[in-house]
Amino acid sequence: MKIIDNIKELKEEISKLNGTIGLVPTMGALHNGHKSLIEKAVEENDNVVVSVFVNPIQFGAGEDLDKYPRQLAEDAKLCQDAGVKIVFAPKVSEMYSDNKDNLTLICPPYDAVNKLCGKSRPGHFDGVCSVVAKLFNLTKAKKAYFGQKDAQQLFIIEKMVKDLNFDIDIIPCPIVREDDGLALSSRNKYLTEKERKIALSISKALLNTKKLFNSGINDIKNLTDTCLEIMSELDVEYIEFVDRNSFEFKQEEADNDTLVLIAARTPETHTRLIDNIVLCK
Ligand code: AMP
Repeated sequence: MKIIDNIKELKEEISKLNGTIGLVPTMGALHNGHKSLIEKAVEENDNVVVSVFVNPIQFGAGEDLDKYPRQLAEDAKLCQDAGVKIVFAPKVSEMYSDNKDNLTLICPPYDAVNKLCGKSRPGHFDGVCSVVAKLFNLTKAKKAYFGQKDAQQLFIIEKMVKDLNFDIDIIPCPIVREDDGLALSSRNKYLTEKERKIALSISKALLNTKKLFNSGINDIKNLTDTCLEIMSELDVEYIEFVDRNSFEFKQEEADNDTLVLIAARTPETHTRLIDNIVLCK
């Protein structure tokens, strides 16, 4: 496995590869959620490239860009053990030529970004789409793997690929959880022991919503109120019900295609966590 930090060498190594290329874009601090994407990519492609890049243009002012966990040696070990060919871990200056305020960006449409995570993180999805497009171009991957944990991101990337005719298949991968239900996230590292327990109420609320839905309760107001009760110790940013295919809000009643999404902050470290569940029976 090669660990590459510059575009010139990446292009040279990509041109030497035989067979198909799969890409797993990450910001590092890899955990079993990332590992599941990487393993699927290794299964389905002759060569796998994992990018490890804490992308500054997808962070807003006051967000956790500086403290985001960085642990390249451990990440590289996980990749090597999984059978990855290339870890691409560039510096910011390599990706953006010290010019990150004067870039050509990909801007997804207002309807897709002015809700859910995009509402509290203006410009976030422009940053995500722009870096992902660069990675698609640089790696020449034919498949790229994204987690359903970041459901809005997955929806927006799929739309970008369709709208801009990128020659790549987007492969959605299921959410990986701890045994007790907490969705794995690099940001879980920020949590205190007490917050870890409180954070669990997010997945509890989602799983309970699915249980209630399966028992015949589909009134969104009712389901939302129950979630809020379960998550009373968290600062809830949103609980929304959307159609899983269109991401249009559902107002009155949930159905089999409804995706429930939650973002919430923990009380002490104010860590922002997201999770979601599909209600299908
Ligand atoms: P990140 O490093 O947080 O940008 O995530 C890189 C990729 O891993 C994204 O496609 C995420 O959706 C995916 N991912 C992160 N956490 C999980 C998880 N718990 N289960 C599945 N995929 C995940």
